[in-house]
Amino acid sequence: MTDLTDVRPTIPDFSGQQLAPGDDGYDRSRSVFNGMIDRSPSLIATCRSAKDVAAAIAWARASDLPISVYGGGHSVQGSAVLDGGLCVDLRGLRDVVVDPEAATAQVGGGCTWGELDAATQEHGLAVTGGRVSTTGVGGLALGSGSGWLERRLGFTCDNLIEAQVVTADGQIVTASETEHPDLFWALRGGGGNFGVVTRFTLRLHPVGPIVFGGMLMYPAPMGADVLRNFRDFIADAPDEVGGGVAFITAPPIEMVPEPARGKPAVGVIVAWTGPLEQAEAVLAPLLTFGPPVFAHVGPMPYVALQRMLDDANPHGMQNYWTADFFDELPDEAVETLVPLATAPVSPLSQVIIVPGGGAIARVPEDATAFGERQARFNIHYLSMWPDPADSEANIAHTRALAAALKPWTTGAVYLNFIGDEGQDRIESSFGETKLARLREIKATWDPDNVFRHNQNIPPAG
Ligand SMILES: Cc1cc2nc3c(=O)[nH]c(=O)nc-3n(C[C@H](O)[C@H](O)[C@H](O)COP(=O)(O)OP(=O)(O)OC[C@H]3O[C@@H](n4cnc5c(N)ncnc54)[C@H](O)[C@@H]3O)c2cc1C
Repeated sequence: MTDLTDVRPTIPDFSGQQLAPGDDGYDRSRSVFNGMIDRSPSLIATCRSAKDVAAAIAWARASDLPISVYGGGHSVQGSAVLDGGLCVDLRGLRDVVVDPEAATAQVGGGCTWGELDAATQEHGLAVTGGRVSTTGVGGLALGSGSGWLERRLGFTCDNLIEAQVVTADGQIVTASETEHPDLFWALRGGGGNFGVVTRFTLRLHPVGPIVFGGMLMYPAPMGADVLRNFRDFIADAPDEVGGGVAFITAPPIEMVPEPARGKPAVGVIVAWTGPLEQAEAVLAPLLTFGPPVFAHVGPMPYVALQRMLDDANPHGMQNYWTADFFDELPDEAVETLVPLATAPVSPLSQVIIVPGGGAIARVPEDATAFGERQARFNIHYLSMWPDPADSEANIAHTRALAAALKPWTTGAVYLNFIGDEGQDRIESSFGETKLARLREIKATWDPDNVFRHNQNIPPAG
């Protein structure tokens, strides 16, 4: 590795900003969502074009420096940054160009969901996207991309038409069903292993701009009944119903009645994007279940629904996340989950039960690198707390919760929802056949594993 101690590193033929330790803005640029991550790249290269990305990769390879790729900085394992290497920062690539006639969006590789949703909603269009607006489109889409619209529109990756990719050897290529289809297949669930996506072309759909959404919140002792009611309702619900069940701590905000504030609670998140006049009839089994502590549901802008969880997910907390897919949630699983989920160590921690089915389950299993499309539920255990001194207790509780539910899991995991849980966990999420194909594709496009600071798929051979 090049010794950069005395020389200021500089990438030639680079139009973006280059920040080294000590520069103004360097510390802000290297920070990521998860406050546990404190890494110092030798250089943060904020790219403004695909050519910048190619120049940065070529320079790092010639300097024998490892590379990380920063999209929106939200992966909890902190793979956007690394110690002592080059951070290829895509936050200079944030353009969104919407073609309302064709119902497509061209999206820069460092764009956030807040930026993309704002641009598409100007035309009453949207694509399935992240539930917190600060999350990057890049990492989320490459990990398949789960969001409130997925039962109606599939994952984000199911709406990917084309990607502009800078490869490990510096080529700028297009991947689509007709150009480099193997690469295109791998990008839809295989993460950042195959190249740097500088532009995503996504298919859009009419959504809102006013949808029917919000949250009904119940006291913790009603948790099992609330979850069973949601489980039974969603089994036959139309595709336009999105949402989930969230075990949280009631926040100290005006709409929450004073006595409930700061207490464990269970929320039913509602996201209906069908005709507004049908919302109350379709959602009646959820809307009439109760009594809730409060019900904040009704017509709202889609962009507000997409920001509804922003305040509950502040930047810079300590984070330990894990997840599992489930075929069913029998009563025994519900009874096991609820006592643990309603006794969080930190009031910021959440357990979110996301329903599957609908459009995601209709895409053939082998159509994309992402699999496990028949799972009925995806449970995301997120623990968050401010003080590193509390890490042990929080992590232990989250692990105990996930372990207690293991008897009902499918064995696969949604990689976007976990931190660093080792290579086995990554590989098992794809299954043997897909993993073998991904490794072959990796060997074609990145035989030296240049893109390895991620949920890594090593090249075959
Ligand atoms: C608050 C919060 C809410 C979330 N909500 C959801 C959700 O609703 N649905 C969901 O599916 N996931 C969700 N996630 C998980 C999220 O999708 C992943 O953490 C994802 O990796 C974040 O993408 P990013 O670009 O912000 O991350 P980064 O940390 O910047 O990137 C993670 C990795 O992705 C790769 N990468 C990113 N961009 C590119 C690119 N353009 N080209 C090539 N590789 C790239 C790189 O390997 C990088 O190391 C959430 C995460 C957080 C923190």
